[in-house]
Amino acid sequence: MSLSLNDSTQYLKSVSPQKASLLSSVGINSVQDLLYYFPFKYLDRRKIVKSDQLNQYLSKGFDGEVTLIACVDFKESYYFGKKRMMKVVMKDDKGFFDLVWFRGIEYFQQKFIEGEFYAISGKPVLTKYNHIQIVHPDFDKLDNSEAQDYLHTGRIIPFYRIPEKLRKNKFGDLSLRKLIFQVVEKYSNLVEERLPTSIIKRFNILDINSAIKNLHFPSSNETLEKALYRMKFEELFFFELMMAIRKHKIKYLLKGNSFQVHPRIINKLLSKFSFELTQSQLEVLSEIRKDLESSQPMNRLLQGDVGSGKTVVALICLLIVSNNNMKSVLLVPTEILARQHFQTITNYLKDFNIEIILIIGGMRKKEKDNVFNKISNSKNCIVIGTHALFEENVRIDNLGLVVIDEQHKFGVLQRSKVISKGKSPDVLIMTATPIPRTLSLTAFGDLDLSIIKKVPSNRQQVKTFLRNEKALDKIYSFIKSRVDNGEQAFIVYPAIEENENSELKSAEKYFVELSQSYFKDYKLALLHGKMTTEKKDEVMNNFKNKTFNILISTTVIEVGIDIPNASVILINNAERFGLSQLHQMRGRVGRGEAQSYCILVTKQRIEKRTPVDLEFNFLSSQQIEQNKTLIRLNSIEKHSDGFKLAEIDLKLRGPGEILGLKQSGIPEFIFSDLTKDLEILEIARRVAFEIIDNDPRLLNPQNIILKKILDVNNWGKVPYFRV
Ligand code: ADP
Ligand code: MG
Repeated sequence: MSLSLNDSTQYLKSVSPQKASLLSSVGINSVQDLLYYFPFKYLDRRKIVKSDQLNQYLSKGFDGEVTLIACVDFKESYYFGKKRMMKVVMKDDKGFFDLVWFRGIEYFQQKFIEGEFYAISGKPVLTKYNHIQIVHPDFDKLDNSEAQDYLHTGRIIPFYRIPEKLRKNKFGDLSLRKLIFQVVEKYSNLVEERLPTSIIKRFNILDINSAIKNLHFPSSNETLEKALYRMKFEELFFFELMMAIRKHKIKYLLKGNSFQVHPRIINKLLSKFSFELTQSQLEVLSEIRKDLESSQPMNRLLQGDVGSGKTVVALICLLIVSNNNMKSVLLVPTEILARQHFQTITNYLKDFNIEIILIIGGMRKKEKDNVFNKISNSKNCIVIGTHALFEENVRIDNLGLVVIDEQHKFGVLQRSKVISKGKSPDVLIMTATPIPRTLSLTAFGDLDLSIIKKVPSNRQQVKTFLRNEKALDKIYSFIKSRVDNGEQAFIVYPAIEENENSELKSAEKYFVELSQSYFKDYKLALLHGKMTTEKKDEVMNNFKNKTFNILISTTVIEVGIDIPNASVILINNAERFGLSQLHQMRGRVGRGEAQSYCILVTKQRIEKRTPVDLEFNFLSSQQIEQNKTLIRLNSIEKHSDGFKLAEIDLKLRGPGEILGLKQSGIPEFIFSDLTKDLEILEIARRVAFEIIDNDPRLLNPQNIILKKILDVNNWGKVPYFRV
């Protein structure tokens, strides 16, 4: 009988029907499932040392992690003062060393058995009696023959995640390793190659069979790396191939509008600005203009740090489209921002005879009907709205352009809901959260990219300070001095109202308190999301026209709010906010000419600064995990560059959390790590785009293999930006 990857595991030697059904119960049914059950770590040969080497290292001041292979000599538990401890003395062929635990003693006592071999990893120290000691090490049990094998040949040993259910049924590391070894020997050659030979040759990539073999049982560290490279390349390549296909479809298969740009009209608008456009704004505008003029639909991501002046760029696009007698939409995440844009745009366009229409949540039926009528009666209106726009009964015929502001506040599907209201409208997606390059090449891989590289030159960098709560008195006096100077301030709190179960400070409470104490001679206003629309509107207007000196607010002001006269933002409970959130809030100041300040207040002890940022590439993942808050706070204090902060954020939180994985359209890559694999991603993308440029439908014989894989794997199911 011929072998097949679909063979049931029961055909394997040593797999009884009972064992096969045990494997099935954890999702391993076929031989192929085993072949793709990859190790999650390996015994790393480069880190393995013998106990005598270790002695030398430590006496020379070595301070890092190592792995030793050794067997248990004896174990004991004893009291050290009042503390119970457990010690296991290990031996290898060169000497002895101690493992020590202060916690979980019963458990470890059971785990370690005299005469058995283990791979021990951890950070060794030399005790004052010159013993090598490792406290709370990581360890993996090895079969004796494996250990011998390793010690003599240095074979690299793979470790697999063993589901609890298997372990309970005495199916542990060794059994799985043996089973997979058998499968790899017998079946790995059956896996069909998925990459064209030309790519394999060009980049000197491992073929799929060698890659699979070496992922399970690497013949050396080098081949293991090559095998990993191959798998990463493959998954990134197919993802980018799909991006290239989508982008190609949007460009060449969808028929969009081609708009005419009349310089006279644009100049009329420019003359209303109190400033000249920056070089960066002009550059992105010329990229966007080409898209608008061409009949291929625009699908562009506009990146620019907070305050870089994206709104006027959007405004110019909106004007061009209206001038061509089509309608457009500006989608924004909050009502306050929608109103701000509505006012700014109404103001700038008042002599242009273009209707500007606002749609927000909570409008009454009558109001809504009125708005819908206005939209359908207008030829070229600009509709500004929040999530309320997603509703199906919001119809916008003759829709030429969709602009999405603060895109990170929306999911892919939400964006496409608005875009699909038109027939291939041009799309401009704006983001102030700088997107690390790996993410812009994946999550936004089918978009063209424009970047506003510099903020207007009238700006001074915002000075950022991290302070303890105890300094609040001083900070308040500082705010007074700025206000006395005619400037304005934001004071942000994480909660609206006081809650006895929470330590978070609330805007309502401090609004009352500060109005009666520190700031009793000043005009304070309160703003939060639960206030009525009219009230919010009134507060923002009065803050803008300087009736109020200080705005006490929740995070409703996080994105987009533009009050150039505000020069201080004080953020309470700063430890509670994410890095990009802090950066956004800081972006509320520094929008005018005055020197601006962002003061982050926390009750955490901040004198204990870790060597963060910071070059935290050198911190272990555990250290990063334990110090996330401090790293965030120190990073925001130290860096003003949004891109730098975005990179740090990516390392701290990972792409999934940043983008909301389910909404992001990025699959969960098995091998690739978007925080690290930029280089492979860039190559994979370049090759994928080259192929689609030359052979968009993958008809060349050498590309047929790719088409097959795309069809089989249903790559097309990942949500589209366009529908
Ligand atoms: P963001 O990119 O964060 O959306 P905005 O578009 O709100 O930034 O612009 C921030 C502020 O900068 C606004 O007050 C805007 O009027 C002003 N601004 C925009 N472009 C320029 C420029 N070229 N020179 C000076 N100020 C500008
Ligand atoms: Mg903005």
